[in-house]
Amino acid sequence: MIVLGVESSCDETGLALYDTQHGLLSHALYSQVAMHEEYGGVVPELASRDHIRRAIPLLTQTLEGAGKSLADIDAIAYTQGPGLAGALLVGSSVACSLGLALDKPVLGVHHLEGHLLSPLLATQPPEFPFIALLVSGGHTQLMRVDGVGQYTLLGETLDDAAGEAFDKSAKLLGLGYPGGPAISRLAEFGDPAAYKLPRPMLHTKDFNFSFSGLKTAVLTVVKNHEQKVVANICEQDKANIARGFIDAIVEVLTAKCVSALKHTGLKRLVIAGGVGANAQLRASLNEAAAKKKFKVFYPELEFCTDNGAMIAFAGAMRLMINPDAAKKDYSFNVRPRWPLDEIKVV
Ligand code: ATP
Ligand code: MG
Ligand code: FE
Repeated sequence: MIVLGVESSCDETGLALYDTQHGLLSHALYSQVAMHEEYGGVVPELASRDHIRRAIPLLTQTLEGAGKSLADIDAIAYTQGPGLAGALLVGSSVACSLGLALDKPVLGVHHLEGHLLSPLLATQPPEFPFIALLVSGGHTQLMRVDGVGQYTLLGETLDDAAGEAFDKSAKLLGLGYPGGPAISRLAEFGDPAAYKLPRPMLHTKDFNFSFSGLKTAVLTVVKNHEQKVVANICEQDKANIARGFIDAIVEVLTAKCVSALKHTGLKRLVIAGGVGANAQLRASLNEAAAKKKFKVFYPELEFCTDNGAMIAFAGAMRLMINPDAAKKDYSFNVRPRWPLDEIKVV
């Protein structure tokens, strides 16, 4: 069975073809980051309009990449939510119109389920059950995953998401949008002893997080610095602050993962979402894994942030368990807000 995946929840348009026999056949992605950069964040209306421009050329590219034609598609999976309403509507209307035209069934996929299952696209995928740390631009959650559609939330952020903390702190350091990769590169040159920033909720017994205080700590350091030296903050100071920020966030994320593994007795940890691309986080988790004897799995770097492959894959996983999960019902209704625990068990 060949499933076409369509992702358009935020500022990436992604299309992909996943074959349940042969794996991922091809995928194509267009990121709008350059367009949104000058505004310092995603402008929803611009995002929707750009998805419209990109969707069909990316579909052609995906089909060509796989050497397939429209007639080869058996089902279409699209991101139904959560995300920006207008952006979601573009992907869902593309998927449903194609379904109607080709007389093929469609399936709305939860964006976070796509992220969550993306490490299973890797060459050495984890087996169920596992603990998943989902660290994206809009979410930070620790989950127990027992199978496709079987997710138990253990804890989540009470305020900012990890990716949001990266982006906001990077903005305070004048690093542009999205700031995660930039702050990470800068931190490589930072002195770890220069700034010891707070580790919010590090010692609480739950699996929740809080990152807004960390961003405020970065703001305070930047402000104090500016007052003291009057002149602009220099590159080395920025690198030191970046290092202080990353060391704090990475320590909290690592500690909570370790305690979730201990609490559940599981030995497999899966990282998903854009922050999962972070080199410092990966190094810290790998070190903890070696020490505490668990295995850690990551998505391929290109599948950490939004992409169509994870949506095609999540759709295909659901369809393999329940072929009736996709329907010839083309009345698309997107779900901009959609808690993961409300998704249908397969
Ligand atoms: P959600 O999936 O919660 O709706 P999203 O789709 O915007 O949010 P992703 O695409 O998974 O989130 O990830 C984007 C986030 O990942 C951004 O906040 C970005 O700064 C962060 N990010 C990407 N690469 C890195 C990196 N190397 N280090 C740290 N953060 C990173
Ligand atoms: Mg994005
Ligand atoms: Fe995402």
